[in-house]
Amino acid sequence: MKLNEQYRTLEKSYLFSDIAHRVSEFQKANPGVDVIRMGIGDVTRPLGEKIVGEMVAGTKEQGKAESFHGYGPEQGYEFLREAVRGYYRSYGVELHPDEIFISDGAKSDVGNILDLFDRENTVLIPDPVYPVYRDTNYMDGRRIVYLEANKENGFLPMPVSGQQADLIYLCSPNNPTGAVYSREQLTKWVEYALEQDAVILFDAAYESFICDENLPRSIFEIEGARRCAIEFCSLSKTAGFTGTRCGYTVVPDDLVRNGLSLREMWLRRQTTKFNGVSYPVQKAAAAVFTPEGQAQCRENLAVYRENAQIMSQALQEMGIWFVGGSNSPYLWLECPNGMNSWEFFDDLLHRAHVVGTPGSGFGKNGEGFFRLTAFGTVENTREAMARMRKLYCK
Ligand code: PLP
Repeated sequence: MKLNEQYRTLEKSYLFSDIAHRVSEFQKANPGVDVIRMGIGDVTRPLGEKIVGEMVAGTKEQGKAESFHGYGPEQGYEFLREAVRGYYRSYGVELHPDEIFISDGAKSDVGNILDLFDRENTVLIPDPVYPVYRDTNYMDGRRIVYLEANKENGFLPMPVSGQQADLIYLCSPNNPTGAVYSREQLTKWVEYALEQDAVILFDAAYESFICDENLPRSIFEIEGARRCAIEFCSLSKTAGFTGTRCGYTVVPDDLVRNGLSLREMWLRRQTTKFNGVSYPVQKAAAAVFTPEGQAQCRENLAVYRENAQIMSQALQEMGIWFVGGSNSPYLWLECPNGMNSWEFFDDLLHRAHVVGTPGSGFGKNGEGFFRLTAFGTVENTREAMARMRKLYCK
C-alpha cells in the first residue's frame, strides 16, 4: 500500500495557530486589556431575515410527507440555478442554467475542479495567495510557477510573455491583498489563456464588494472568457453563508479541450462524487437573489464597506502604502518603519492591542506586508484605527 507522498511536500500551516498563540500569551500577561481583532476572514453579521425565513420554510417542508424532498439534483435545484442566472444577467452576463453548478462553497469546488486536469499540467499561482490554490495542487504533485505580485505591480501580476501555462488561478477582488483587476487587465489574461490553450480558474468569492461599475465582477464579462475560464463564486461573503455553506461554479459550454467538454466532465464528476446541497440551504440561497434578500445583504455589505472606508482613510492619514479597501473587504498594507510582517504583528498587538494577519503567511512576497479585514464592527474598526493613528502617523 502506498500513500499519496505529495502530502509530505505541504508546508504545515501555522499562520492562524501562531496568531492565536501570540494573542493568548499577550492576554494572559495583560488581563483586562481590550484586544481588537482585525484579522478575521469570517463575516460577523447574521443572515438576513428573508433568507432565514426561507431556510425555516424549507426545513418545515422536509417535515411533511407531502412536501418532503429526498435526494435533489446533484447540480442544484433549478429554482436556484435560475436565480443565479438572473443575478449574472443583472450585470450583463448571459448563462445557460446547465452551466451553473450549485456547491457547498467555493473552497470545495476550487479544490475538486482539479479532478478534471492532468497532473503534468503547469499551474500559475499568484504569490501572495489564498493557500487553497497552492496546497490542492501540491497534493496532486503539479508543477507550480508563481506569479510575482508586489508593490510595483500593485499586487496584480500580469502574464509574462513566453511563460507556458495550462492552469491559471486568478482571484479578484483578491484575498489576501484586496487588489482588483480592471477590465483591460482581465482582457490581457483571457488573451494569454487563449494563446496558451490554458484554463483560467477565476475565484469571484468577493465580487459583491465591487462598487465601481467599471470593474468586472465576473470573468465572463470579458470577451473570449467562455472559451477559457471557469468561475467560482460563494454566498459566504456576499450573504453571510460561511456557516450555512452554499456557492456556485460556472463551467461554460464553450470550454472544450481535445474534444472534451469541461462542463460535461464536471457534471459527470459531480454526479459521481457529490449529492448536492441540502434543500433548506438551497431555499435560503435562492432567497438571497430576491429583491428583499438582496436589500438585506446590501445592508450587511454596507457595514463592511464603511469599515473598509474608515480603514482606508486612516491608512492614508498615516502615510502607509496599501491596496484594497475600496472594492474589497481586505486591506493590504506595507508594514511601517521597515518592520517585517511578524515584527509589525507584535508591535501592533503590544502597543495598539490590535490583531491583524502577517502577509508573510500568504507567500514570500507577503513579507513586509500585512492584511487587515473589514469584517469587524464599525465601533471596533474606528477604535483600532484611532489607536494606530497615535502610533504610526508620520
Ligand atoms: N475563495 C477565496 C479567495 C476565499 O478567501 C475564501 C474564503 O475565505 C473562499 C474561496 C472560500 O469560500 P467558501 O466559504 O464559499 O468555501
